[in-house]
Amino acid sequence: MSQPVRVRYAPSPTGSPHIGNTRTALFTWLFARGHGGVFVLRIEDTDRERFVPGSQEMIEEGLRWLGLDWDEGPGKGGDYGPYVQSERLGLYREYSDQLVAEGKAYRCYCTQDRLTSMREQQTAAGLPPGYDRRCRDLTPEQRAEEEAKGSPFVIRIKMPLDGVTTFHDEVLGDISFENRLLDDFVAIKSDGGSLYNFANVVDDHLMGITHIIRGNEFVSSTPRFINLYNHFGWEPPKFAHCSLLTGPGGAKLAKRHGAVGVLEYRDQGMLPEAVFNFLSLLGWSPGDDRELMSRDEILQAFSLEGLTKHPAFFDVEKLVWMNGEYIRSCSIDRLAELLVPHLVSAALLPADPSEADLAYLKRIVPLIQERVKRLSEVPEQVAFFYADSLDYDPKGVKKWLSSAETPALLRSVADALGDLDAWTIDGIEAAVRSAGESMGASGGKVIHPVRMAVTGRTTGPGLFEAMEVLGRDRCLHRLKAAEGLVPVD
Ligand code: GLU
Repeated sequence: MSQPVRVRYAPSPTGSPHIGNTRTALFTWLFARGHGGVFVLRIEDTDRERFVPGSQEMIEEGLRWLGLDWDEGPGKGGDYGPYVQSERLGLYREYSDQLVAEGKAYRCYCTQDRLTSMREQQTAAGLPPGYDRRCRDLTPEQRAEEEAKGSPFVIRIKMPLDGVTTFHDEVLGDISFENRLLDDFVAIKSDGGSLYNFANVVDDHLMGITHIIRGNEFVSSTPRFINLYNHFGWEPPKFAHCSLLTGPGGAKLAKRHGAVGVLEYRDQGMLPEAVFNFLSLLGWSPGDDRELMSRDEILQAFSLEGLTKHPAFFDVEKLVWMNGEYIRSCSIDRLAELLVPHLVSAALLPADPSEADLAYLKRIVPLIQERVKRLSEVPEQVAFFYADSLDYDPKGVKKWLSSAETPALLRSVADALGDLDAWTIDGIEAAVRSAGESMGASGGKVIHPVRMAVTGRTTGPGLFEAMEVLGRDRCLHRLKAAEGLVPVD
């Protein structure tokens, strides 16, 4: 490749980052890193009506969480800044004025009322809505008159009136659009603010962007961009439009399909490596049937040629499955570390857990690692390891702790455990079973009542392993407390 790769992720801060945009960021980052290129983060905040305070921070947090580090952009600086468009408005004015001076753009004085009634007429006549270019052909006198009146104006970019605009897309191949369908779009609003279509092109050029990777909802705007590059005499970058993301049955992807923002996946207890892996396979293929791939394997295999044209099904079930796989392949230390925020927000751990808290957690982790699919499920599953008094499952109490023989059974188990020399899993198991047998309750008949008594639940991690972690005192205390649950006639 002749030029060093410079690519950008250019989100608009309109709320919590959408997972589809995060996929774009991921592909862009992979391309940059795979080519020793520069990954730029640019915030496209020109649309002040859709601006949501705090979203830039969420975008940055999402990128950091996934490990998509940027080389230039907010918080990083760089030679092409500022990287937030609202800080570049003067530049857009300069470049649009240049086009006006060259006759490639014009001031349009049409009022909102005129535009609205024009659109209504077009719709009524079954025509595609679009600006009728009245101000494109104003005479110098008409223009002078508007200026003398001080009429507010926008700046529109002239699009060719006929012919075809063709561009090459790295994913979709050659794409042609009829120019007569291209509107003379607004570059600068009457308040002086720039619009996305213009600012985006100016910045891509000024920031030396070599490749644009983005969602395919931008394919239809690209001919406008190409004409703008032509007006300026700039070489357009290469384009790669990623496939559409869909929900089940090919429907447009929506929240109800479980597609939420990247930070919400984090809060639901997805691992960043699982989300990274899952997103990478949405519209890209390594060329074989690998599914579980590490970040390095993905980096090695990624290329624009691997981007697929067909819509990509956003299968949340698959993400959940992958997440479970990643949870199982985590080290105990890392899993414990990942679980801390979830346990803190469930008030099972203090905000700043001590060494002893962490050591205790690391003993619990292996007991749940095999079954968990989302980290957010864990607090509920492990609450009994922390509780002073248990929240008993009422159905379980009814089924396993309500017979007249239960107190004697629990007492015999407690006695056997009290006599144990060493508090080991095997020792606990042998003691519980033999105490049960001595009371005529073997296997499940003793295990279920004991599980209910010491965990408050009918399901959960291996009972003897859990008891070993809980410790003798706590188990004996709970066996005693459970006697009180048995109804007395
Ligand atoms: N600001 C646009 C968006 O958020 C960026 C489109 C592009 O990458 O050119 O979707």
